[in-house]
Amino acid sequence: MGKRRTYIFITGGVMSGVGKGVASASLGAILKSRGLRVTAVKIDPYINVDAGTMNPVEHGEVFVTRDGDETDQDIGNYERFLDEDILKVNYMTTGRVYLSVIQRERTLGYGGKTVEVVPHVPQEVISRIKLAAKHHDADVTIIEIGGTVGEYQNVLFLEAARMMRIETPDDVLVGLVSYLPVPGALGEMKTKPTQYAVRTLNSAGIQPDFVIGRSTHRIDDLRKKKMAVHCSVQAEDIFSAPDVSSVYEVPRVMEEEGLGARVVKKLKLRAGKPDLRAWNKLTKSIANAKKPVRIGVVGKYAASGDFNLSDAYLSVLESIKHAAWSIGRKPEIVWIDAGELEKTKKISKKIDGILVPGGFGSRGVEGKILAAKFAREKKIPYLGLCYGMQLACIEFARHVLHMRGAHTTEIQPDAAHPVIHLMNEQEEKMKNKSYGGSMRLGSYICRLKKGSRARKLYGEAAVEERHRHRYEFNPDYRQAFEQKGLVVSGESPDGMLAEIIELKNHPFFMGTQAHPEFLSRPFKPHPLFLGFLHACTKK
Ligand code: GLN
Repeated sequence: MGKRRTYIFITGGVMSGVGKGVASASLGAILKSRGLRVTAVKIDPYINVDAGTMNPVEHGEVFVTRDGDETDQDIGNYERFLDEDILKVNYMTTGRVYLSVIQRERTLGYGGKTVEVVPHVPQEVISRIKLAAKHHDADVTIIEIGGTVGEYQNVLFLEAARMMRIETPDDVLVGLVSYLPVPGALGEMKTKPTQYAVRTLNSAGIQPDFVIGRSTHRIDDLRKKKMAVHCSVQAEDIFSAPDVSSVYEVPRVMEEEGLGARVVKKLKLRAGKPDLRAWNKLTKSIANAKKPVRIGVVGKYAASGDFNLSDAYLSVLESIKHAAWSIGRKPEIVWIDAGELEKTKKISKKIDGILVPGGFGSRGVEGKILAAKFAREKKIPYLGLCYGMQLACIEFARHVLHMRGAHTTEIQPDAAHPVIHLMNEQEEKMKNKSYGGSMRLGSYICRLKKGSRARKLYGEAAVEERHRHRYEFNPDYRQAFEQKGLVVSGESPDGMLAEIIELKNHPFFMGTQAHPEFLSRPFKPHPLFLGFLHACTKK
């Protein structure tokens, strides 16, 4: 018999966007702090095989794993909260599950049987969950089922939870993260929507083992008792998750509510005492960081009706925060809409640094180029990530090297000076419209040049960074750039690809072809962000 593995499914009730991912990740963190091995699986109910082909404006950030999977931003939460690498095996979508069932059927993998939605699809889900648990040798695997109960889309995943629980009742828990509104006009917390959510889960054949109640306030004892009656969940299995000033407080809040101890007891886990010292230190440093540092983030922001969404840059934001807190500063993000900037051509002087994150396509590009020019000329610290690096190169070519027709062939295929061009291996893929999962994805080694700022910041001769792009710096222009002070300080081991650029005689002007934001962790800020933030405080 192998090692015992346990599973905690997390479902959502009432509405999406209440922080199911953070709650799940925090549960993972407090279990890990007891010495347990924890991993997390995210299930997205859509048909897309991965998140790579989805518009981030609609879907939020596309998070890239070390092994090159294009996943949901919740995977980022898991990496940050668990401080573990989460891999391809940890992520599935309806599309991915169906694809493998169909492929197996086509290769006679079901031995001539009728292949049915139930049980074959949930069985595939279960085998994927178990594979992830095994791969990470986890004592506890947390499985977050995307969406909310009652949606048609995630029924088969609930079915997988139900079937797993029948198979191994002692090793499986199901939690519901629900929302309890406090309507302004009433001034009272209402439990009825959560009661309905539990009933809906019941109709899928599942009684939740615990409920995490997200709300603006704590759930008082009176309401816990009421919920216990109506939800058939004991009052001590109902946990409050009130709004907090930072997501990094959630593990502490969950621990104080007793969630960790309760889960350990229910699953009869052999665990140590919780050790949240690192988390407490972090939240203290967040609270103590009073002096602001203002970072302008130049991006494409999406209006969704009357609301503005900036989820697409989640990891970038977190990375700025990690670095700022670690040097005792309070991060203030100034959203600069790249499209607006094209029209106004004005950037407030009241910012300490400019960051241009990754992106695709033509919208806002000239605005981002303008931001790079402003930072270069006014000697304001600049950090360009992926597209932000490419556009800084275009700016430099146009205004320092006087190459008026400098551009990326992504936008202008016949540019007079294609300083950014398609990588060789990408040409064929683009011709065949093979867009899904076909970029340069995942971790690659980057060699750092001696004496460079990059080398100093990283403190190593070679590092690994995660990538997600099709275009690259055109090496034909390297010499011209370097002669004028924009040097390649990081390159691929074969010397073919420019991975990091930096400007001489500037307080801080760097661009990286990679996405360092995927590697920053709350306890371990990323060296490039740290260097950037440092420079921003020196102004
Ligand atoms: N659009 C650019 C490319 O494909 C940059 C991608 C990015 O910023 N992730 O190379």
